[in-house]
Amino acid sequence: MNILVTGGAGYIGSHAVRKLCETGHSVVVLDNLSYGHREAVPNNVPFYHVDLKDTDQIETILRKHHINAVMHFAALISVGESVQKPLLYYRNNTAGAMSLLEAMERVGVRRFVFSSTAATYGEPEETPILETTRQQPINPYGRSKWFVEQILQDIVTADPKFGFVVFRYFNVAGATEDGSIGENHQPETHLIPLVLFAAMGKRNNITVFGTDYPTPDGTCIRDYVHVNDLVTAHVLGIEALSDGDARFYNLGIGHGYSVREILDAAKKVTGKEIPTVFGSRREGDPARLFANSDKAQKELGWNPQHTNIEEIIASAWHWHTH
Ligand code: UDP
Repeated sequence: MNILVTGGAGYIGSHAVRKLCETGHSVVVLDNLSYGHREAVPNNVPFYHVDLKDTDQIETILRKHHINAVMHFAALISVGESVQKPLLYYRNNTAGAMSLLEAMERVGVRRFVFSSTAATYGEPEETPILETTRQQPINPYGRSKWFVEQILQDIVTADPKFGFVVFRYFNVAGATEDGSIGENHQPETHLIPLVLFAAMGKRNNITVFGTDYPTPDGTCIRDYVHVNDLVTAHVLGIEALSDGDARFYNLGIGHGYSVREILDAAKKVTGKEIPTVFGSRREGDPARLFANSDKAQKELGWNPQHTNIEEIIASAWHWHTH
């Protein structure tokens, strides 16, 4: 297939580009480089420095490269920032996806893979979270993605030849085995890279956000999935799509780790002390989020390879230190 990857210079997008190339697909990348890194995209992959709002230019790219399918990763991802700047998030994440979908409609591209998030579930009514668990996002970031999920359903209703997959990500971590690409967010807010920065002495310490949650050790529980397993699901998803598909899958490994467990695992992996400060809760953090991903495993044949947290942390450590 000829696949356009938006956000292909970002963390997850750049891993998807590698995986798609390895599996024999022809890839074109579009990224506005607001957070992405040009060097994360292989030199032999056509790259366009274009913003999602530029519908006309996206249309030109779709035509020029005879694109059959789009994987849409480009988005803003910070919950806290979305609370401060909701319009920025709706403009980028919701209107951005609409602009891309409009360009696809003009050209007749009818296959779409969308990066959504566990944040669309908000404070979940049940764990593990199933795809059918009620969605009630509690911040603009989650809503900006949830709106796109609903728009996609309306598009399939209007055009039964359209087909899409929505993947709802849990906590994505790790890096590619050869250490050539990995997580490089600026500013970084995610737990695993920050813990590793503390181990490396790149920051003074790591603050644990809350020790009074109703969990066995009082810290929040999350489901960490390796980035390469995550993008493998995308390849399986895009290859499985047919007319009229409206597929939704959770992507997590189905097992949660607490913040304290992550700290212990990181200490083991790195062999370093991790200076830790126990702080208060961060606003908007649910106590426990972990997935039931049986649906992706059954329907797509997804079989995550990295189910051990130490292995996931070790691959991130290799990326940060090699
Ligand atoms: N966390 C923490 N200290 C940090 C960053 C994160 O204790 O400096 C906690 C956070 O409260 C959450 C978990 O680590 O319970 C994972 O947070 P992250 O920001 O990595 O991902 P999120 O679950 O928010 O998508």
